[in-house]
Amino acid sequence: RQENPAVLPPELEDPSVTSVRVLYADLHGVARGKDVPIREFRHAVEHGLAFCSAIMGTDLRHTPVVGGEEGYPDLVACPDLSTMTLVPWEPGVACCLADLRPAGDHAPPADPRGAVRRAVAAFEEVGLSPVVGPELEFFLCEREAAGGVRRYVDNLSMVYTVGPQADPRGIVREIAEMLSGMGLGAFAANHEFMNSQYEINLHHAPALTAADRAFRLKCAVKDVAAMRGLVATFMGKPFNDQGGSGFHIHFSLERDGANAFAGGADGVSDLLRHFVAGVLAHASGLMAFLNPTINAYRRLVPDSLAPTHANWGWDNRTAFVRIPPERGGATRVEVRVGDGSANPYLATAATLFAGLHGVRERLPLGPPVGGDAYTLAGEKAGPPLPATLDEALDALEADQVLREAMGPQIVDTFLALKRYEIERHRTWVSDWEISEYLHHL
Ligand code: GLU
Ligand code: MG
Ligand code: MG
Repeated sequence: RQENPAVLPPELEDPSVTSVRVLYADLHGVARGKDVPIREFRHAVEHGLAFCSAIMGTDLRHTPVVGGEEGYPDLVACPDLSTMTLVPWEPGVACCLADLRPAGDHAPPADPRGAVRRAVAAFEEVGLSPVVGPELEFFLCEREAAGGVRRYVDNLSMVYTVGPQADPRGIVREIAEMLSGMGLGAFAANHEFMNSQYEINLHHAPALTAADRAFRLKCAVKDVAAMRGLVATFMGKPFNDQGGSGFHIHFSLERDGANAFAGGADGVSDLLRHFVAGVLAHASGLMAFLNPTINAYRRLVPDSLAPTHANWGWDNRTAFVRIPPERGGATRVEVRVGDGSANPYLATAATLFAGLHGVRERLPLGPPVGGDAYTLAGEKAGPPLPATLDEALDALEADQVLREAMGPQIVDTFLALKRYEIERHRTWVSDWEISEYLHHL
């Protein structure tokens, strides 16, 4: 319940605004919400909006009985007015994000945004504020008549090519301009290494703001692409003949307004080293949130610029954690393992909690990997990452630190949803099996 609903944000004084869209992320990071006619919005602010709690799955067909023991009670989405923006691609619509609360005395719902709030609060207890910079890659595709897709642009070697050759309809540039206009901190857009793959970078910001922006970026890219007749996908590895889409996340910690990762040997503080040690110590369990699909693990192969082992390196794009070369205020770490299918809130919160564990326990950081980490063997490479979602879920379940920090609502619901996904996949006959076996066996 909003303390002072009398004050609505200035965006809503714009006479052209006729509806407010109230959005939140489900456990998959998929946007859920309701459109509220402007006249009704004050009521929504005062009372919240009710949703069926079964929503935390993708849809009912894909929802196991999580919450069923309570009869799927209501959850309430409470608008966070500080997140209000206009929606440039839908004139007349304003949009804000919501925090989830239980209706009545039920257990709190699995609220991904709430996990980031809790992670930030945990850092604040030790006098630190996490700062996060998300980078999201995605593919754009045209729809084909038969329900399939083909790539929007299919030329080789387009990385960093700008203009009509890389984006014939100017869609990526348009989205970046819109995101910037919404105050979401988009500062650059480019064509990536793979055919029809693009990236939009967001300025670093306090962790909750950054996660909100990453979530909204994904919504904006998918919405605007759909309005232009295209399909945008953040799926980690959509094509066999192309590398995948990463969700790199940059982290630093501020103390009293200054970057506490700066200083010390090699220009990085002991705090940075402990944070990275924590992230690497929990790498296997973290993978469940950073690479949360069956498909995600197909991206993590040698020569992909995505890691295969839990390791770190100086400005090394073959490592799990890269320490970019900037120092001073820009000293930070880049966690490179996640893919675009990750829920930005869960990925951000879980990585922060892992780093915090390293900070609290003053975990020691091992040596960096040098050169091409894909060619290193044994201990030099670091522990291999889980090879499948199944392994990552088992690792998450066994990771008491992550489990407790993320909370049982999130972890147990997530494990149930994802294991149900694995079981559906396990019994599904794929195209590969048909081509591999049908004619020969
Ligand atoms: N696409 C690569 C990945 O899957 C990253 C390429 C880059 O460093 O921008 O993570
Ligand atoms: Mg990139
Ligand atoms: Mg990067």
